[in-house]
Amino acid sequence: MAGEPQADCLFCKIVAGEVPATVVRETDTTVAFRDINPQAPTHVLVIPKAHYPDAASLAAGSPEILADVLREAGEVAAMEKIAPEDGGGPGTGYRVVFNTGSGAGQTVFHTHAHVLGGRGLEWPPG
Ligand code: 5GP
Repeated sequence: MAGEPQADCLFCKIVAGEVPATVVRETDTTVAFRDINPQAPTHVLVIPKAHYPDAASLAAGSPEILADVLREAGEVAAMEKIAPEDGGGPGTGYRVVFNTGSGAGQTVFHTHAHVLGGRGLEWPPG
């Protein structure tokens, strides 16, 4: 059923505490933890506790939890002092990325928002 934990899902195991992670924030509906292979000085993943394979399925099934994920992304940026109000220029401002589909680089099929910042971020992304 949509949202139910999946036995073979790495991020469901992090939610359950079965796989360790460096958790930086947790709410009733979300967990935020540091990426194991950071691509920027701040690289935190914000995930819903409920299992949805990608952002689009989360938006369709539980839009209120998608809103929680995005709100938490902002809280992580504030905590890491990379929010726009922390100044301008390289190192402030941040990017929220949902890779969706293997062709776009998604490797873990449990919705996650990458929160990236702490350095200048180029556009367009690779
Ligand atoms: P994707 O490629 O699906 O957009 O992002 C998956 C992310 O999960 C990658 O950035 C990868 O480094 C991270 N990741 C994969 N396995 C683990 C893990 O066991 N722990 C943590 N903290 N991050 C992981």
